[in-house]
Amino acid sequence: MNILVINSGSSSIKYKLFRMSHRKILAEGKIEHIGEEGSVVPDHYAGLKLILNKINSVDAVGHRVVHGAERFKKPVLVDASVIRKIKQCCSIAPLHNPANLAGILACNRLLKGVKQVAVFDTAFHQTIPDYAYIYGLPYELYTRLRIRKYGFHGTSHEYVAHETARILKTRLDKLKIITCHLGNGCSITAVDKGKSVDTSMGFTPLEGLVMGTRCGDVDPALITHIMKKKKLDIARMDNLLNKESGLKGISGISNDMRTLEEKSRAGNKRARLALEIFVYRIRKYIGAYTAVMSGCDALVFTGGIGENQRDIRQRIAKNIFKHLRKKPKILVIPTNEELMIARQTYQLING
Ligand code: ADP
Repeated sequence: MNILVINSGSSSIKYKLFRMSHRKILAEGKIEHIGEEGSVVPDHYAGLKLILNKINSVDAVGHRVVHGAERFKKPVLVDASVIRKIKQCCSIAPLHNPANLAGILACNRLLKGVKQVAVFDTAFHQTIPDYAYIYGLPYELYTRLRIRKYGFHGTSHEYVAHETARILKTRLDKLKIITCHLGNGCSITAVDKGKSVDTSMGFTPLEGLVMGTRCGDVDPALITHIMKKKKLDIARMDNLLNKESGLKGISGISNDMRTLEEKSRAGNKRARLALEIFVYRIRKYIGAYTAVMSGCDALVFTGGIGENQRDIRQRIAKNIFKHLRKKPKILVIPTNEELMIARQTYQLING
């Protein structure tokens, strides 16, 4: 069975065609600059057409969808009602869901009769208990506007948690795992017996760790204070928090961890500070999640930084479990969100 995995973003579509269940990759690639001025690809429909010209025999499609809110707790077969619900989630994920939906709608038109599955970044975190996902805000904001922690990178956290169990030859339901997805976006999850029980990202992917250009946790009173002081409107404030902060904002140099390590080694003080803050925040969360789960059997690193930057991993892990009698295993596991989506699509279709 050939499963096409589609990750449809605002101006790009990434794809991978898997032969299941052998994990064999038959084709992969990326269509970029969709809808941009001067581009030969005016929309997602045209982008998908280009992809389908390059590949054949697609038996099913698995789509990455960023936000499933509380409506989707696991992958689902796409039908008219699912499309309607994904549309309804667009208001809380305006940057991602419309693009994901465009990919689904293009497949609907171009691959008539081929089953499509939606796999949600938020679904894995739907097991987080209410005392961890409700904010200290008026409760009506939750009941009326569904304001709560959702968490993201769920497919990646779930994939590496499964891999951890496989590598340690232990059943997942016997393990307490802390998974650190450290890329441009960074998040950390407490996985207890295979279920997400807390995660650092929140209502949006802005909360939690310090990231490439996102600030992570800050005092919420700062938002209005900065807006007043710097006379910023909502769009500019949003840009400051999402695009001008994090490693880039602190260092004033770059959001790229490789550049910052280089500059830090060369003696640049702000690059060094940015790295210290990055590492410190992660250590704080690891401590918190070890307490949340009353222990930790494995600490797992994944994502561009987690997989490739040994110095950062060592700084994060240094003496961190000194007080624990049984020391957790520390693992580096390359993430594979596409394979996870292909697997979940395959499982859903084949019961
Ligand atoms: P994204 O969240 O955009 O998928 P990645 O997971 O590719 O991001 O991670 C990007 C970060 O990983 C950057 O800070 C980059 O410096 C760092 N990094 C370190 N080594 C590598 C590598 N070999 N390949 C890609 N990114 C790397």
